[in-house]
Amino acid sequence: MDETGPKAFPTNLGIDEARARIVEIAEKCALPTERVQLEQARARILGVDVTAPADVPGFINSAMDGFALRGADLPQQGEKIFRMDGEILAGGKEAAAIGANACVRITTGAALPRGADTVVMKENTRVDDAGVHVAAGTMTGANVRGAGEDYRQGELALRRGQQLTPAAVGVLAAFGMTQVDVVARPRAVLLTTGDELAAPGEKLGFGGIYDSNRFSLGGLLEQQGVTLLRHERLKDVPAALLDALRRAGEDADIVLSSGGVSAGEADFMPKVIAEIGEILFWKVRMRPGMPFLCGRVGKALVCALPGNPVSGFATFLTLVRPALDAMCGSDRPFLPLRARLRKELHKRHARSEFQRALLECDASGTLWATPHDKQGSGMMRGMAKADALILLPEDAHEFALGTVVDVLPLPGWPR
Ligand code: AMP
Ligand code: MG
Repeated sequence: MDETGPKAFPTNLGIDEARARIVEIAEKCALPTERVQLEQARARILGVDVTAPADVPGFINSAMDGFALRGADLPQQGEKIFRMDGEILAGGKEAAAIGANACVRITTGAALPRGADTVVMKENTRVDDAGVHVAAGTMTGANVRGAGEDYRQGELALRRGQQLTPAAVGVLAAFGMTQVDVVARPRAVLLTTGDELAAPGEKLGFGGIYDSNRFSLGGLLEQQGVTLLRHERLKDVPAALLDALRRAGEDADIVLSSGGVSAGEADFMPKVIAEIGEILFWKVRMRPGMPFLCGRVGKALVCALPGNPVSGFATFLTLVRPALDAMCGSDRPFLPLRARLRKELHKRHARSEFQRALLECDASGTLWATPHDKQGSGMMRGMAKADALILLPEDAHEFALGTVVDVLPLPGWPR
């Protein structure tokens, strides 16, 4: 492929620059919103700002099981007997207003009777025929939740772009909402390419291997909340790649391919993408993952990943995932964790390097990363046993024991 000429594109980018570019491109492919039932809202990206439609809680209520009374009547010392004027349970009928030196039995969450401003915990009282004995020690206003104490009506409660955690969906429910506008799931087509690939279950021919990327990349996409429209396994045949890419460009928001993007004899991906679409950048100074290509075909963003399984993870976590987040308007930043190296590392080349590692937090709260001994980019074992990828910056070469490094946790960590 010619990287100069009229259709020149940036090449050999640093990893941060590559990410900045792909995020900028993906932001222009912003996805629409759709309305879903609250039951389907968890883990989706909120598509609108949500303001509190009313005060939560909507009324002054008790934070304890006990007795509601007027704080002014409380004893300064010793104890005092209050007359019990009925009870109110959470969800129960409104109690009569409280008079002087009277109290109402109340449970947590029940509306405070008019006149009452304080709840004495059950544990600080004793009931007998004379009435309710209240010991000194409770302050006026204690154990009461004010109306709007949690959310004030009209307050900005949840922001567009945040992921709907179980707690956030709970807030929507507390507002009485039954539906919410979320960002549509990105629709992806996954293409795994290579003459050597066979589906698990098929008989392997000479030199054949099973297509594991279909499942590891498919799993990463799924983890990211993407709808996988289809997967196609393709031979290293330009016409087949061209046909599959063209169709994917019509249906998908993002096309993820693996293999055929380097400089080998059967690496046709860049040429085909350039022919029916556009290469936006190609090659990133990272290892593994250097041949990563970002392009466009039809209306889809194309992320062409090298075939090595480890390259797939490294490029997905550092480039594809931030791009998907950007498409969704997600507010999640690309923010690696920091951990200390359990053993020293050397790096010879001037590229960012990814090492498979286990993570462990010691008793003092320090996070440690232990790199695996075998780091071959074709090795599945290192990935399968890893909690994270260590990301070594391109400009440093010696990393002593205890050096603080960036780590990207893999889906599944913490276990
Ligand atoms: P490529 O990027 O096409 O040069 O492939 C690099 C290496 O990854 C080769 O050893 C391929 O056999 C291997 N590979 C390519 N695609 C897959 C796949 N889908 N699953 C597992 N390994 C693959
Ligand atoms: Mg290949």
